[in-house]
Amino acid sequence: MEQKQVINFGAGPAKLPQPVLLQAQKELLTYSDTGISVLEMSHRSSDFNNILNRTKSLLRELLNIPDNYQVMFLQGGGSGQFSGVPLNLIGLKEGRCADYLVTGTWSAKAAKEAEKYGKVNVVHPKLDSYTKIPDSSSWNLNPSASYVYYCCNETVHGVEFNFVPETNGVVLVSDMSSNFLSRPVDVSKFGLIYAGAQKNVGCAGVTVVIVREDLIGHALKECPIVLDYKVQVENNSMYNTPPCFSIYIMGLVMEWIKNSGGSAAMETLNRKKSSTIYDIINASNGFYVCPVEEACRSRMNVPFRVGKKEGDEGLEKKFLDRASKRGMISLKGHRSVGGMRASLYNAVTVEEAEALADFMKEFQKEHQ
Ligand code: PLP
Repeated sequence: MEQKQVINFGAGPAKLPQPVLLQAQKELLTYSDTGISVLEMSHRSSDFNNILNRTKSLLRELLNIPDNYQVMFLQGGGSGQFSGVPLNLIGLKEGRCADYLVTGTWSAKAAKEAEKYGKVNVVHPKLDSYTKIPDSSSWNLNPSASYVYYCCNETVHGVEFNFVPETNGVVLVSDMSSNFLSRPVDVSKFGLIYAGAQKNVGCAGVTVVIVREDLIGHALKECPIVLDYKVQVENNSMYNTPPCFSIYIMGLVMEWIKNSGGSAAMETLNRKKSSTIYDIINASNGFYVCPVEEACRSRMNVPFRVGKKEGDEGLEKKFLDRASKRGMISLKGHRSVGGMRASLYNAVTVEEAEALADFMKEFQKEHQ
């Protein structure tokens, strides 16, 4: 059967690199010379241990993770870490306070979850719309906070930090679910980084947590054991059955990133892809509108409206239909914001971003 040519601009689970899928296909029935699939393999076997440890060491290499940090592969998704972070860290200081930057849906959800376990201070005036990062001079950081939390890339709203917040020595925590390994990161500036794999580094099921060693062992007594960093680190992420196949796929993605030039090469490509689309938007005389301020526009998720500022519903429907006929799928914006969203994660190629840009130009010409 002839395969339909599709370009997947989905926000996650998202496109995987072709070589990763081919490798997984090749090894699906028999991994190496084991005679069984990774799907059938005991997590206690030496073969799976090798897969997990190889994935971990590739990640350490790709992000240059300092020795005093531990890496975990956990279940429960990014949302699991909305609870995992406060359960493990809010008790670091007396008073159980944490500072949150709320710049979109995901940090808002994380802050709400943290309120169950302590006092949450949103450090800036509440935003009317998630289209900018409030100027850091307006942040009211609490020196007694156990940690400062932010979401590095807001997947729904397309707001991305291109700087690391200054916290005056307070532990910094970041949700990097949707821009993990899309660019280099200085891990030493963070107490904790976490990322669900299903956007830039694999498939759904596994969440990477990178944590500085001195922050381990402070969990609240009500912390579920599977979310307790100390327990998971001591058990090499295998206190209970880990998401074996997702870890294996992530290992293949790490290998692919390494062979493609690492996180710096990803950054160059991601810059190129996103500016291809933003350039079309900026040059469209208001036919396409991205509501996000230029300084914090995401390289991963590009939200835009078609026809006018608040979107012309008829045109937007037509845009999606026409794009889909060309094999460009999953361009519909998140249901909470509407419009379009082009997600340009690592696996999306420059040529694919250019194909979208060409289509946008053509569509404008026909419908202006
Ligand atoms: N954080 C960010 C930035 C996300 O984009 C998402 C999901 O898209 C989440 C957290 C929640 O992840 P999960 O659905 O794996 O719980």
